[in-house]
Amino acid sequence: MGKFEEQICDDLEAIREAGLWRELRQIESAQSTCIKLGGRKVINFSSNDYLGLAGHPALDQAAREAVEHFGVGSGASRLICGSLQPHHELESALAKWQGTESALVFSTGFAAAQGVLTSLLGRGDVVILDKKSHASTIDAAKLSGATMRVFRHNDLENLEKLLQWAADRGGRVLVATESVFSMDGDHAPLAGIVELKERYGAWLMLDEAHAVGLYGPRGQGLAAAGGLSESIEIRMGTLGKAVGAAGGFICGSRRLTELLVNKARSFIFSTAPSPAVSAAARAGVELTQGAEGQSLRSQLWQRVDELRRAAGALGWETPAEPSAILPLIVGGEAKAVATMERLREAGFFIPAIRYPTVPRNEARLRVTLTANHTAEDILQLLDALGQAVTR
Ligand SMILES: *Cc1c(COP(=O)(O)O)cnc(C)c1O
Repeated sequence: MGKFEEQICDDLEAIREAGLWRELRQIESAQSTCIKLGGRKVINFSSNDYLGLAGHPALDQAAREAVEHFGVGSGASRLICGSLQPHHELESALAKWQGTESALVFSTGFAAAQGVLTSLLGRGDVVILDKKSHASTIDAAKLSGATMRVFRHNDLENLEKLLQWAADRGGRVLVATESVFSMDGDHAPLAGIVELKERYGAWLMLDEAHAVGLYGPRGQGLAAAGGLSESIEIRMGTLGKAVGAAGGFICGSRRLTELLVNKARSFIFSTAPSPAVSAAARAGVELTQGAEGQSLRSQLWQRVDELRRAAGALGWETPAEPSAILPLIVGGEAKAVATMERLREAGFFIPAIRYPTVPRNEARLRVTLTANHTAEDILQLLDALGQAVTR
């Protein structure tokens, strides 16, 4: 035991010395634009609850009703006796929303990525990822046993080279990317990627974690916004961001979801999501598509527009296309953390994102906006940034 503790202590020291120490902060209030932390209220610019649905009464109500009918726990995995009505209703709602034949819900988006890549690929196959892919996709690709190749971020020429190389080897070829990148807020060149994967006979998995609920008709996502949904074999999303609940999903053909039910280990060997969470997610999916969702989206885009303009005027580089994520690149890890702390003192909660989440010396403050932020919140943020950020 002594040796065990000693070695862990060394590991921790190395993390601390590199300026990469992470720790949990206990939030003492519900998820909102104003949260309580250490007994103090701060304005929250860090949540992925883009439409402000995490605390919406309709989701709350749906969860309560589900608890009344189905209890809290789901009791078993979906394939044993845990496949409850709220799971099926959520899957129908997702398939209808996304215009696919079928949908399958996982406990998290992380588990969905794992399930789908390990079910579709194995040794002898090739998976080609964008350099800035989320950890869930990278880990899933590794676990699949397929040969992994990485293309330069959003670089179609580089992707084509890898597709050419892969086509000569035989075996399945799958390209995986995100529609909106989680730490940069920029968009993938989807039309170009679809064109290439079709030309080389590859499949595409698109992670729409930061796009569903935000873009396209009825908030379907960026693929739908570009009229590309039909050409994408595997669409993945999370129910924990704009949808306001928790869980992950895969949308695609009936055969795809049947294969996942039969092969995806993160689905098969895991207790089904709580029925309350799936019922709340379904309420979130319905709300997102309706008039209220539309109005929340336009509120959000207005705030995004205000912040992008002001940030641009202050000399920050902003991504070419709008998203709810605005990274303010600070550079060094220690500097980013010091800036985060100054902002917290001033009453703003904005996380410093560091290596290994982003490359070394590209540490940043990741500002995220939600529909419930006010124009006044943005003005206050800009004021605080002006004082806290020394460049
Ligand atoms: C958050 C996120 C996931 C994981 O989804 P969870 O439901 O939170 O597990 C996957 N991909 C991207 C790009 C994400 O940002």
